Amino acid sequence: MQGVAILGSTGSIGTTALRVLARHRDRFAVRAVTAHANAALLAKQVGEWAPSYVALVEGDAETPAAWRRGSASLVEAATLPSVDVVLNAIVGAAGLDATLAALGAGKRVALANKESLVVGGALVDAAATRGGGTVVPVDSEHSAILQCLHGRGASDIRRLVITASGGPFREWPADRVRSATVQDALNHPTWSMGRKITVDSATLANKALEVIEAHFLFGVGYDQIEVVVHPQSIVHSMVEFRDGSVLAQLGVPSMELPILYALSHPERLEDAGIPVFDPVAAGRLTFEPVRHDAFPCLGLGVAAGRAGGAAPAVFNGANEQAVALFLDGRIPFGGIATGIEQALDRHAGLAGGDLESLWHADAAARRSVRETFGC
Ligand code: NDP
Ligand code: MG
Repeated sequence: MQGVAILGSTGSIGTTALRVLARHRDRFAVRAVTAHANAALLAKQVGEWAPSYVALVEGDAETPAAWRRGSASLVEAATLPSVDVVLNAIVGAAGLDATLAALGAGKRVALANKESLVVGGALVDAAATRGGGTVVPVDSEHSAILQCLHGRGASDIRRLVITASGGPFREWPADRVRSATVQDALNHPTWSMGRKITVDSATLANKALEVIEAHFLFGVGYDQIEVVVHPQSIVHSMVEFRDGSVLAQLGVPSMELPILYALSHPERLEDAGIPVFDPVAAGRLTFEPVRHDAFPCLGLGVAAGRAGGAAPAVFNGANEQAVALFLDGRIPFGGIATGIEQALDRHAGLAGGDLESLWHADAAARRSVRETFGC
């Protein structure tokens, strides 16, 4: 029996993971669950799964006495002796400490929290090497790449082709995209996800995060990672090997399979609940280039990845702050890219060799965005 900790159990990935785990109770036991503020859903999950460890980061006097509170509880949950697999489904840089701690304690990290790798990729690698932990991606594109690679390493890869749905504004003229509303941005054509990643998918900042994620997960250079728009979200990504052969992984847009695979890798488990793929129903599969004029966040993020140091942390921190302000109705959609660009102009050169300097860069980026908009 494998013990599982689900960090962010009340979110889109967390609740999907519990649905998957409910079909595999013979192999996995949920030992820990954590949430940020959603006490009602967390209580419901505790009633169903009876985990021995429960944490509500923003708990208050009303919080059950047996539950832990505060952000240190995420690290505690990630390092419990009874836990073998940590599913990190927290949103944002807030997930980094738990990823590092889990890897340092030798756990498998099923990583949905891509921001961990974007902010602290080199530190994540170092923690895995030091502690003996492993990272298995939950992100559908990276799960697809892992499945195509089937154990082959970076030296066999010529190119990774990451697919992007293109988001709700794929066909909009660039000036209309800049003034899109919150409601427009939350209306994703193919995936149902949390609010932050849904906005990231509309700006294509999500693809920049994924390019950086792929760089660290698979050890390939930025010149070898390409993004292509694929509106149907059926081909989850492709690997071109050095002999020119291209393998792709296909399926309906659902996170259930990537979550299951991150738990079972390299094994494959029987699961009748995974949505069935019907190629005829899927219909025509199309591919288009990215329109960089309408979606500048992708280029900004990839450039930050190439620059290295604290630049990816600055990109991520600025993006998180700008998305929060956009969702609050305080800046226009186009302001997300403007805020990121100015933060990178001001702070991309900051040092990023250790955790402290990365948090410093993260804070500087967030402050820069607030200053840009007088918020
Ligand atoms: P959600 O917003 O739906 O859920 C986030 C979860 O994290 C919730 O349980 C939330 O608790 C908790 N949380 C939020 N902020 C904090 C914090 N500061 N400290 C601790 N816990 C916190 O996000 P998603 O599930 O959509 O995404 C989670 C991660 O997975 C992101 O990194 C995203 O990029 C990635 N991902 C998501 C996909 C998807 O399909 N949704 C696909 C691929 C990757 P509460 O509910 O109490 O607020
Ligand atoms: Mg993805």
